[in-house]
Order: sequence, then C-alpha cells, then structure tokens
Amino acid sequence: MRVSIAFSFLLYVSLGWSASNACAEFRAGAAKLDITPAHGVSLDGSISKNGPVTSVHDPLHARALVLDNDSTRIAIVTCDLCMVGRDVFDKAKQLIEQETASKIPATHILLAATHTHAAPRAIHIGKEPIDDQYHRLLAEKIASAVIKANSRLVPARIGYTCFNKPNLIACRRFLCKPGSVSPNPFGETGERVKSVAGKSSAIIKPAGPVDPQFSVLSVQTSKGQPICVLGNFSVHYCGGYRRGTVSADYFGYFSEAIETALRSEQIDSSSPPVLGMMSNGTSGNTGAFPRSAGQKKFSAFEGMVFYGRMLASDAVKAIGQLSYQQNPPIKMIERELCLKVRRPDAKRLAWAEQILSSPRSKWPHRWSKIYAEEARHLAGYPETVSIILQVIRIGDIAIASCPCEVFAETGLEIKKQSPFKKTFTIELANGYGGYLPPREQHELGGYETWPARSSFLEVDAARKIRSELVSMLHELAK
Ligand SMILES: [Zn+2]
Repeated sequence: MRVSIAFSFLLYVSLGWSASNACAEFRAGAAKLDITPAHGVSLDGSISKNGPVTSVHDPLHARALVLDNDSTRIAIVTCDLCMVGRDVFDKAKQLIEQETASKIPATHILLAATHTHAAPRAIHIGKEPIDDQYHRLLAEKIASAVIKANSRLVPARIGYTCFNKPNLIACRRFLCKPGSVSPNPFGETGERVKSVAGKSSAIIKPAGPVDPQFSVLSVQTSKGQPICVLGNFSVHYCGGYRRGTVSADYFGYFSEAIETALRSEQIDSSSPPVLGMMSNGTSGNTGAFPRSAGQKKFSAFEGMVFYGRMLASDAVKAIGQLSYQQNPPIKMIERELCLKVRRPDAKRLAWAEQILSSPRSKWPHRWSKIYAEEARHLAGYPETVSIILQVIRIGDIAIASCPCEVFAETGLEIKKQSPFKKTFTIELANGYGGYLPPREQHELGGYETWPARSSFLEVDAARKIRSELVSMLHELAK
C-alpha cells in the first residue's frame, strides 16, 4: 500500500513536471495571404501620381508570423502597402481576437505596412476616391493570414543576427548653404534642407545619419526546418515603378527569394511552405542609393529585384551560422501615447484660402496648392491624437514599434539605449502617424517637416516616442 502511494506520488510529480515543461514549449507558425487590389483601386497618393490600378507587376501579400509559449501568444504581420490607417488595423485585430478566442489578444498583435509606394494607401488621406470595399476586405485578409499562421503552430526555435549594409542607402535630406534653398510651399524662406536634391553645389552634406543595420530573425521547427525569416532594413523603398502598376517593391522580392532559397531545406514536404518577410525599420529620411562598384542605373523595377535578392542571399548565408534559442520567454507591452497635432493657426488658414483662390503663377512653390488643401484638412483634425507603441521580447531579442515614418537618428538612439543588444525597430505599425522628424530636423525644414496629413504630429513627438519606447524596453528586461 505504502509503496503504491509512493509510486503514485512519484508518477504525479513526474507527470506534473513534464506537463509544466510542455507548457513552456516555444511554438511558431507562419502564413501569407494575397492582398493585391483589383483594377481601379487607387494607388499611392498625389505626389507620386500613381493613379488607379491598371496592371500588376508582382503581387502584394499580408505575411504573418505567430509565436507562442503557451502563456503568451503574439503575431507579427507585414503588409505590402504604402501605409494603413488605424481603423483598418484595429478591425483586423478585433477579428483575430474573436477568431482565436482571445488566444491572440489585440494588444499582442503588431501589424505594419512595408511602405512600397506601388500599392494602396489604406487610409483616407489620398486625393482619389476612398476605396472602402478594399479596406474592408484588407482587414479580413490580414486577419485570415494570422488565423492561418495560428493554425500551423509547431515546436520551434529562434535565432537572430545582424550586419551593416551601408552601401545600399543614404540620407535623402541634404543640408544646403544658407540662402540657397527656395521658399517652401508656404512662401517662407530660410530653410536649410532639400530632400532628394540631386547634384547641387549648394549641398554641404547629408542632413542626418542612416541606420545601416540589416537584421535577420530566423524561426525554424525544433528539428531545424525553416518556418520563417523576418528581415528588417531601413530604406524608404526602391521604386522604379510605372504609373498604375502594383508592386511589393524590394520587400516582396526579398520575401520571395527567401522562400525560393529555403524551399529545398524543407525535409518534410507535407509541412507548410517557409515564409519570407521584410519589415521597414526607419525610413523617414533614408533613400535607396546603391554605391556598389560598376552598378549601372536601374531601369523600371530592376532596383527592387537587386535589393531584394542581395539581402535575401545575405540572410540565407547568415542563418546557416546561427545559434538558436530553444525556449525563449515571450513578452509584449502595448501603450498608447497622446500627442499634440500641428494644426494650422488662423494666419495659415487665411494663407490657404488666398492660395486656393489665386492663379498658379502667384504660388510661391509648385506644391503650394497641395499644402493649402492639406492645411484645410488639418484644421479638421483633433487637438491631440493617441498612437500605439509596442515592444516585444523574444528571449534576448527585442523589437520596438510605432506608427510613424521614423528618422534614422530616432531608431539609432532607441537601439543604443535598449537594454537588449539585439534590438530592431518596425515603423508604420498599428496605424499612421506621418513623418517623425526630430526637433532639430524640424528646425532645418524640408518636405518631411511641412504640415500635412503626412506630417502632423507635434515638433517634440520624436523625443516623446523615443523616450517612451526606451522605457518600455527597460520594462521588458525586468
Ligand atoms: Zn513614402
């Protein structure tokens, strides 16, 4: 009898131990869904003049990675879109939460746009007609991608590496000699920055740094079969588009090249296909300027193929050398930050009305009419807006995200102040907060600082967002 009780106790302890260990198991699943718009849906807005869709060069996708350790389940999604409004992302999160019976709560979902410009702006800020049907379908498709990834969870492990690729990028804002910059659209003089200025004797130097870090997050099954490779790089986009033509830019080419290269490593042919994903780090002031020797000028769509395949090839080489974490802890924190809006004052509104009633020959800048219309739009904005900030910890790897087009200096500072050596940032996440120039860049002026629906947060927004994200990263480390 005593022996039997003792045996039962041992059995109980042993089962209890293995059950709790099984609970801590790290699992992952990945999936993608096509989000290519139909003909007629409007592409990116007034400045790049892309117009309605007339053809598809390469398809757009929502790409989802779900990670789980039984106590915490999170989803990271990239969407091949220029930008996505908070309403669309919030709807997708609500659907995911419902469909997964709250296993993936809305606060554990990071949804981000890549910022290809040959894709719709899924937000109501363009000049073209609003495409509500595409927005509604988009939220459903993003949710479906996550639900599919969630149904594919298998025991997994995770690895990370990063290296610098400085020869692919440059700051696209240039500090110019005093008095050399023409008046801005509002007729104001004295700005010191020209964006994408070409070659000019007025240029002194780039107006800011770049973040050359290329991060690679590799997720495999516990047996070493690839599940997903998530890249992270900081460049606005590659471009080289044709009007009306859809393309996922280098974000899509990177992902497809990863999937092609790793397909042969899938030992079990019945398992889901490997997923490539590319997220945008900080692209507010960084352009694609390749400087490799002998690189000819790209013709249409060539640059994106070059960038995508080069980075994918680097990533594939790197993941062969990685050491993997078997059961990393997962933690995610979400907070809302309230920021003031740079709404036009009475003087700016009077200027806007005067521009809109005067002939083009009287405008101080060819974009004055656009910015006068933007002033009218901003007048209808609330005094303050609330934006979503998120940080994620997966073992010793950290990710920080915000909804803006972030300048490189902000991303670099977040990485420097992060308690995690392996940190990267994802921008344009969970909504759209416009360009995020730090205060000193606001003082230099230039396109990214001019008040519009694409640049509307207070002058101190970059500092406030950076400081909040750094404090959240420290909280993750506790
Ligand atoms: Zn852009």
